[in-house]
Amino acid sequence: MIMTVRGAVDRKEIGKSLVHEHILVDFSSAEEQIVIDDNLRNDIVEVMLPYLVEIKELGYNSFFECTPKYVGRDVKILRILSEKTGLNIITNTGFYGAGEDKHVPKKYRQLSPEDFAEMWINEWKNSIEDGIKPGFIKTAVNPGPLNDIDEKLIRASAFAHLETGLTVACHTGEKQCALEVAKIFEEEKVDLSALIIVHADAIEDFDVHLELLDRGAFLEYDSVGGRPIEYHLNLIERVIKEGFIDRILISHDAGWFTVGKPKESQNIRPYTDISYKLIPKLVERNIGEDIINRLLVDNPGEAFDIKVRRR
Ligand SMILES: [Zn+2]
Repeated sequence: MIMTVRGAVDRKEIGKSLVHEHILVDFSSAEEQIVIDDNLRNDIVEVMLPYLVEIKELGYNSFFECTPKYVGRDVKILRILSEKTGLNIITNTGFYGAGEDKHVPKKYRQLSPEDFAEMWINEWKNSIEDGIKPGFIKTAVNPGPLNDIDEKLIRASAFAHLETGLTVACHTGEKQCALEVAKIFEEEKVDLSALIIVHADAIEDFDVHLELLDRGAFLEYDSVGGRPIEYHLNLIERVIKEGFIDRILISHDAGWFTVGKPKESQNIRPYTDISYKLIPKLVERNIGEDIINRLLVDNPGEAFDIKVRRR
């Protein structure tokens, strides 16, 4: 089962999916988040709708919105856009520790992992608002060794997974924090198939990719179009050769409406480089439709299927 902002769907129905994108982001600190009223909500819907219509026309059926609470998450906007486009849109629970923890409210920083987990489990059980439930847990850690807050958030996400079956997508971007996140999951007896290493394409050491894949984690190569396309072509070819293509997710980490900037000066990156740039090149390199379907349909279905994965 996959949980969308309009309710649960069978994982077989998710179709072609973009697993890591953003509709809106507010990079101000947790204490300074801009209140989104109906006027601003209408502006965001108006600006972002054409980009979602575009991917619907390209055959996508599901869209995972990776903006957590205190980074601008607004589930009402997501539901409006889902209703207008027919796309499945999936939102998240969890807190974002990257950015020196400025998106974790100061009043919560002393809480225990159990306390954090309880807040997120509550969003799953009782909805975020208006009956809208999260479809995954999104966390983020700072680069390098995990600080105290990061470690608590990761342990909390492992606890919340065991309680809810929601998959955890954790923003990393460099090898040390990624390996420490994986270690905490293993310590808490969570199978690494419940963990998506977000921004894994930024981990320079390919041996670390192989190690994480071998231990069972999903790796997200989510900056397609943000780097020369050859970079992702080469990564995909290497992973195919090593036999781990079943564990790879691809996306653009694109969008988004920046809250706090007027709608006229938004600079949106479309969600289209996979379709227009990556796939034609994969085909040129004789990587067939079966692999493309695995990356865009089967792997997202497996990764985000809601089920408890104990070690
Ligand atoms: Zn992102």
